[in-house]
Amino acid sequence: MALPAELKEYGAQFLKQYRAFYRAVKRYDRICVFRHIKPDFDAQGTQMGMVQFLRDNFPNKEIHYVGDNHVSFTPRLFPVTETLNEDWFKSGDFLAIIVDVGDHERIADPRYKYAKYKVKIDHHPCKKEIAPRCSILDTESSAASELVADVLLKWKGMRMSPEAARWLYIGIVGDSGRFMFSSTSPHTFAVAQELLKTGFNMRETYLAMYEKSIDSLRSQAYVLSNFHLTPHGVAYYLLPKPVQDELKITSEQGKENVNMFSNIAGINVWCSITEDCDPKDYCWRISIRSKKVDISGIANKWGGGGHAQASGARIDSLDDLDAFLKDLDDLFA
Ligand code: AMP
Repeated sequence: MALPAELKEYGAQFLKQYRAFYRAVKRYDRICVFRHIKPDFDAQGTQMGMVQFLRDNFPNKEIHYVGDNHVSFTPRLFPVTETLNEDWFKSGDFLAIIVDVGDHERIADPRYKYAKYKVKIDHHPCKKEIAPRCSILDTESSAASELVADVLLKWKGMRMSPEAARWLYIGIVGDSGRFMFSSTSPHTFAVAQELLKTGFNMRETYLAMYEKSIDSLRSQAYVLSNFHLTPHGVAYYLLPKPVQDELKITSEQGKENVNMFSNIAGINVWCSITEDCDPKDYCWRISIRSKKVDISGIANKWGGGGHAQASGARIDSLDDLDAFLKDLDDLFA
């Protein structure tokens, strides 16, 4: 099937890496796909899309996926991740495909380090290269899934099944904010179109991604009744541990209502700020979203990172809250 111009024209700078990746997949019979901790739609969609595509097209290879499970969507949307014992990795005789993560510390399973060959496909800014021999990185891409789909759709004679396409579509919809963030490009739509052509059920997919429980309405009500607004339009809500307990949510679920503040006139940036009482790493986890202005620099400054309109950060205690909010507020002063 002929690919649209947006796909044909994209990726000339990665030709060498695209080929190296293809050769590596052919060469290794044992492959494991890794992604970032605390996964979101893109991390898991990219990982599962890659796994499904490889299993469909290389049925004789052993293909695995590892990492922590999604806090709300496992097993409703994403399958429980695999548990592989140390022996599987120790020989190093496998290909590690690392997707949607740019920092070593954020890879959800450290055993990628054993791999004789590593490939990384990602859209996060990268501080220290994870796969120096084969890294496909485009920070302009709306989603890692968009990039992975571009790579895989170009493999001649291989089939993109509706199942693989659906996973990648989930990643794109998740990280492009349903095609609304400024990172969404003609290439994003062209990739989405090719994926949709495989015939998976888009309506069912959206329901699986966005359907909420009646219980979750209580959290929404709490957030709407308790949010704050800085002088220049930074909206935020705090979810201390006792409140999470009362609402029966985990700290990771605290960010699930952050997008209630998108599309509100007068709100430029919005954040969820959730207490995480992990005894090994106590902090307040922050999810930051922005209407227009790039907030990734502030996220970097506050122990995190991410993208222009969706980033993550942290503060170690509420003593830092005012300084953090001031940094965001100053973007609009
Ligand atoms: P979150 O608010 O956790 O949903 O994160 C929003 C986006 O920022 C996602 O694409 C994350 O992968 C990215 N992100 C979150 N935390 C970090 C971090 N510490 N370093 C780099 N990227 C991050």
